Amino acid sequence: MIRIAIQTKGRLNEESLALMKSIDIDVESAKRKFLSKAANFPAEVLYLRDDDIPQVVSSGTAQLGIVGLNEVEERGCDVEIVARLGFGGCRISLAVPKGDKYEGVEYFNGKTIATSYPVILGKFLKENNIDAKIEVITGSVEIAPAAGIADAIFDIVSSGGTLVSNGLREVERVFESEAVLIANRNLGSEEREVLDEILFRIESERVSSRKKYLLMNIPKDSLDEALTILPAMRSPTVMPLAAEGWCSLHSVVEADELWNKVKQLKAIGAEGILVLTLDKIIL
Ligand code: ATP
Ligand code: MG
Repeated sequence: MIRIAIQTKGRLNEESLALMKSIDIDVESAKRKFLSKAANFPAEVLYLRDDDIPQVVSSGTAQLGIVGLNEVEERGCDVEIVARLGFGGCRISLAVPKGDKYEGVEYFNGKTIATSYPVILGKFLKENNIDAKIEVITGSVEIAPAAGIADAIFDIVSSGGTLVSNGLREVERVFESEAVLIANRNLGSEEREVLDEILFRIESERVSSRKKYLLMNIPKDSLDEALTILPAMRSPTVMPLAAEGWCSLHSVVEADELWNKVKQLKAIGAEGILVLTLDKIIL
């Protein structure tokens, strides 16, 4: 049995649960319980605030966790980062009032910077030999300059819209983040096995979500050309059709090449083209 810590509510909650569902681990949402055992897998989910997830995993109260890389870095907890999960993407940036002249990081010497990420900021300032004061505030960091609390801010940015509406300009992208799967450093062999199964399923899911299954009828005369258009995992499947001179061709293509392939196949006479979403690809 493995325990996975997930954010109770907030930006990572929905996608963390969607990830669990996509790898066929069925758990109840946080609305019902703070601890929910999967019906069909040796795992249970513990719902927590994201701030607490790195700590709970490093201490071993939970063996795994899904959390932003920014929180892992800020908390300084010793955990293993086992997978980047491709959602919750954001960056932590330095931003200054948009009218200020900015020519480089020296700008921050002698300035006060408001942030909820003092550890990551402190590291950056040290690396760049900047002597600035860090003012820790936990919410609405972006209003700090206008409120006279600080000269500049260091905060999470995703689209940049919040900065603009507060009269700020992003000047240094310091830390790139996304949701990650973290693990306790001392997993037992059974726990490691469950983790490997989870990673295997995540990888299958990732591969299949980037691909489409394509079926079509094609004149036998065009088959050779079709095979050059469609490199499949091994080779496309060709099956005879009752209609004289035709066959059925099945293949897997990269989702982002789909429409280009369809166009080429239609041009050589393919008909009845079906495109199916793949549930899983087991490599
Ligand atoms: P909690 O109540 O669990 O402490 P929170 O308010 O601290 O939640 P959220 O705002 O839900 O946190 O953000 C969770 C994570 O989502 C962040 O730590 C970050 O990794 C990621 N994230 C992605 N985009 C953004 C964004 N635009 N603003 C804030 N966080 C973002
Ligand atoms: Mg939080």
